[in-house]
Amino acid sequence: MNPFESYRLISPFGMRIHPVFKVPKFHRGVDLVTRPSKGPLYAFVAGEVIHAKEGVNGSGFGGYGIVVAIKDDKGYLHCYAHLTMAMVQVGDRVLRGEKVGLQGSTGISIGAHLHYEIRKVCSPSFGYTLTESGVVEPTKYLQDYYAKEELFTVDKKDANAIIDKYLKPAWEVAKTPADKKEIGRLADELRVASGQPKQNV
Ligand SMILES: [Zn+2]
Repeated sequence: MNPFESYRLISPFGMRIHPVFKVPKFHRGVDLVTRPSKGPLYAFVAGEVIHAKEGVNGSGFGGYGIVVAIKDDKGYLHCYAHLTMAMVQVGDRVLRGEKVGLQGSTGISIGAHLHYEIRKVCSPSFGYTLTESGVVEPTKYLQDYYAKEELFTVDKKDANAIIDKYLKPAWEVAKTPADKKEIGRLADELRVASGQPKQNV
């Protein structure tokens, strides 16, 4: 699954020749383009807005133009840079898919695009590090994040129906302790995914 399906990916994460400085430079995020040039941008994951204005030098967002930065529930910081304008405010809780701003070309940029970057920490200076160690590869991070989110939204009734209908009868007829253990593990995975405590059976 491609989390950037509705965008054109113009520059991937990793080493590249910088489009403005023309020297090899580590690209800390991905560059995405949507149409029109001031088109709306939507949050890739939910979280709390901790920055929503022009990034000044020393803020961790110097050169990034107008930046919306959203901290997710794991403490990672999702940065939406070069915006025309921010449409959220510091302190707001945003949901996945909520509009956060309009695409633009503010800061050091050669044309309207979204620079999207995920930092491992939010402070100090909102987690900025000179090296690549402070960021993660966005595509994989989002794929993992969404996979986990889906797992945790299993309905409790559905989970228990599967356990009662399939796993309990299978456990009854399982021949070896290893088989019983594996069935118990699957049942607990479903219980945890639907917000219930483990039972070890
Ligand atoms: Zn970029």
